[in-house]
Amino acid sequence: MNNDNDMTNLRILAAAATATALWACTPKQAADTGFDYTADRFADIEVLRYQVPDFDSLSVNQKALIYYLTEAALWGRDILWDQNCSANLPLRHALENIYTTYNGDRESADFKAFEQYMKQVWFGNGIHHHYSMDKFAPSFSKEFFAEQLNRTGVTADEQAELMKVVFDPTYLAKRVNQADNADLVATSACNFYGPGLTQDEVEAYYAALKDSADPTPVSYGLNSRLVKDENGKVAEQVYRIGGLYSAAIEKIVENLEKAKPYAENDAQRDIIEKLIEYYTTGSLKTFDDYSIAWAEDTASQVDFINGFIESYGDPLGMTGSWESIVNFKNIPASRRTETLSANAQWFEDNSPVDPAFRKDEVKGVSAKVITAAILAGDAYPATPIGINLPNANWIRAAHGSKSVTLENITQAYDAANHGSGFDEEFVIDEPTRKLMADYLFITDNLHTDLHECLGHGSGRLMPGVDPDALKAHGSTLEETRADLFALYYLADPKLLEIGLLDNPDAYKAEYYKYILNGLMTQLNRIEPGKDIEEAHMRNRALIARWAYEHGKDANVIELVSRDGKTYVQINDYEALRRLFGELLAEVQRIRSTGDYEAGRALVEQYAVKVDPALHKEVLDRYARLNLAPYRGFVNPVYTPVMDGDSITDVKVSYGEGYADQMLRYSRDYSALK
Ligand code: ZN
Repeated sequence: MNNDNDMTNLRILAAAATATALWACTPKQAADTGFDYTADRFADIEVLRYQVPDFDSLSVNQKALIYYLTEAALWGRDILWDQNCSANLPLRHALENIYTTYNGDRESADFKAFEQYMKQVWFGNGIHHHYSMDKFAPSFSKEFFAEQLNRTGVTADEQAELMKVVFDPTYLAKRVNQADNADLVATSACNFYGPGLTQDEVEAYYAALKDSADPTPVSYGLNSRLVKDENGKVAEQVYRIGGLYSAAIEKIVENLEKAKPYAENDAQRDIIEKLIEYYTTGSLKTFDDYSIAWAEDTASQVDFINGFIESYGDPLGMTGSWESIVNFKNIPASRRTETLSANAQWFEDNSPVDPAFRKDEVKGVSAKVITAAILAGDAYPATPIGINLPNANWIRAAHGSKSVTLENITQAYDAANHGSGFDEEFVIDEPTRKLMADYLFITDNLHTDLHECLGHGSGRLMPGVDPDALKAHGSTLEETRADLFALYYLADPKLLEIGLLDNPDAYKAEYYKYILNGLMTQLNRIEPGKDIEEAHMRNRALIARWAYEHGKDANVIELVSRDGKTYVQINDYEALRRLFGELLAEVQRIRSTGDYEAGRALVEQYAVKVDPALHKEVLDRYARLNLAPYRGFVNPVYTPVMDGDSITDVKVSYGEGYADQMLRYSRDYSALK
């Protein structure tokens, strides 16, 4: 519900546009340090490296804790691959086997195309693009692939299936289908639902489990695959030791056990124990106990998530994709988010939404800036830059939530974007470029902080309203709500008063970028003829286009044509802020009252369709810049220094290449077949 998986990409555009400023603001990066940020470039992807500053300043115990948590993180990789699609693991084994044993010409067109395809599959954690959810199209020949399958001893039956998986565009075509009026279960290739199940059957199954009077419901379906058994009865296969994915979960638990003695305090040890219990029993009640303990632990410096967390990968938003992020608090940078959190109630009380939909008491919005130590599962290689958990509404209301910004990741983006040419191409004039150069870095960080610390946690549901009432549009509208909250407050004098900004015009930098991205530049990530499908992209289109349409009479936002190119011009920033406030009030009303029809209408009207002429223009202009539309990361390598069974130090190194890392993970952390 609230993991900004693709704010990474928003950030790319932002950082590209603000390269000059970054150079001025953060002189310690890139060229100065000589750090090589680029690990690989292929198709529409650039793979970066990130640094883990201050790792060496941690205690030996903290380093050992992080080390075993990173091991627990890496062991979950195969779970995600299988969740994404049942064809993924067999194909990955076949591809890697061909790749590592190939003794023909590695410069041949077929092999090069094969290599690119394999890199795409690695990046997507399977055969579908991580963002568009469409199946990758290979550009090597069927003959080449068939010959290689033969050479590596793949049986005839397996060959037939693999040929279909790779070459038949209609087979397993879309990982998550969000098309209005389709059977989302039957038409999605993800593996959360077994063969033969329909959306109606899945919805009926969960409707029967849900008790609308229960004030503390578990997250139904979060850790299970739903199947039809031999009698046609719907049943859950639970992800746990002894259940589905047992072999991988056992390795995760083994490493959590090793991490436990190094816990920083009793609360953290208790969290690890509860997580182990959850993995052992599969009990969603235990998962809630774990989530509460996790949300309430704000004292530990080292922190981690590990489990079935976000449900973007499920067309019905029920089942969590496996992921893990291990991190530690960046203490100086956390002052920014702590200031926002300390003022959380003021922001809630002064928001433009109907007072009936505000929270009387905003509880425990804990916010910090963190340094990521490892990215895994659904958070790898493409990764979020902000996370706000837990997802269960009642836990958030009663026990608070933790909100984090992954600043070493955003720094890597920023450094890698230096001098990309984006702002010269798309930003309308020099004064706007200057404004963005001076203020986009800080306002973009603040936007993320406001979105995560306050936006998702704001507002309340009316009694009896089903939290899932907005169904397939729930994710889009939730991100819309959090973004609007952030945009609205970015322009508030309060931010100057509490010392987070020093110029009342600073917010305009983020406003300009946001509208530019929502109206135009994010279209770069859509293929010609396709709709906008991903929740965060829909949310940004919704906000930008709604504001454009509703500000038309007053000429708030203009699309100006100059030398055959379209530019965004914002004529009235204050009016734009008022529009953001109006839309926030409406989206909060929709959320609070569960007004599905109004939510659906907003999404369908503003968030889905693409203007083909503008789309083509954006693609053409982007192509000339030669920027990768998507980015992700390789992880650092952690090597423990042992004295017998105990760790005396942990070394971190950064040199590993993309293919080397993927092959090593497949070799050393392959738990499922
Ligand atoms: Zn979010």
